[in-house]
Amino acid sequence: MLRERVSENVYWFQSEIYAQVTAGVIAGPQWAVVIDTLALPEETLAIREFIDSEIRVPVRYVVNTHYHADHSWGNCFFPGAMVVGHSLCRKEMLTRGVKALETARQNKQNNIYRHVKITPPQLTFDQGTLTLKVGKKNLILTPMGGHSRDGIAILVEEDRVLFAGDSFMPLPYIVDGSLEDTITSIKRISKMGLENIIQGHGDIILRGEIESAVRENLIYLANIKKAAKTAARRRNPLEYLDEISVEECGKSRVYLGGLAEGLHRSNLRALIRHMAAENARGSQKAATADDAIII
Ligand SMILES: [Zn+2]
Repeated sequence: MLRERVSENVYWFQSEIYAQVTAGVIAGPQWAVVIDTLALPEETLAIREFIDSEIRVPVRYVVNTHYHADHSWGNCFFPGAMVVGHSLCRKEMLTRGVKALETARQNKQNNIYRHVKITPPQLTFDQGTLTLKVGKKNLILTPMGGHSRDGIAILVEEDRVLFAGDSFMPLPYIVDGSLEDTITSIKRISKMGLENIIQGHGDIILRGEIESAVRENLIYLANIKKAAKTAARRRNPLEYLDEISVEECGKSRVYLGGLAEGLHRSNLRALIRHMAAENARGSQKAATADDAIII
């Protein structure tokens, strides 16, 4: 696992095993806050070990940016902490999360999850902001949808560091959320005057890189929207979409440890489903796919 100090008392962790998923720690004099808890117990435990040996304060709060397994399944390894998240995050963990863990356990080789227990947020909110004071720093929690409906972002106010969750990624992933909400979130993030964006996956974005990262993500989203619209008019929309590469839409396939092409495919197919659901029911909420739970 990679680790970096982002600013005073603010740490960043990145998985070297699964999709470059990230987590954070903000340390105060008496206790610490963990943001997201990674997918694999061995990496969650490595964060805990770092806190125990280097920071030497207990973890009082765990904040989940959203309910997906790779951000929340490590919650149970901080049994003394209160978990904080969106009210929908709690709901999704208790339904889809519990089911997904059962499925993962049925795979006998998947012994790694035997000690995992779904631990949903006990403290929830669904609009406005929630401020948590850690030492001298304010953590401002705010809903940030797009990647999923339960997304929240955490701003370390004094440092202008934003833990964006998956609303900001090297390749926007909208299968379990909405393309329009992702655009709204990215634009909102671009106006926050940030030093760093901590993406839910991938590397830390530095101040000088924010503008181009924002532009690239918005161009990508515009391109896949256009492709899906064109595909929807064809007799075989999926065949048409299979020809549209991630590069054509303005992104590199090497992003996210090579997962970018697969995520891109899922994005295009999801857009077709979202559009069909919108036409059928006037809503895209019913069109979420179960394969969205991991990333
Ligand atoms: Zn996610």
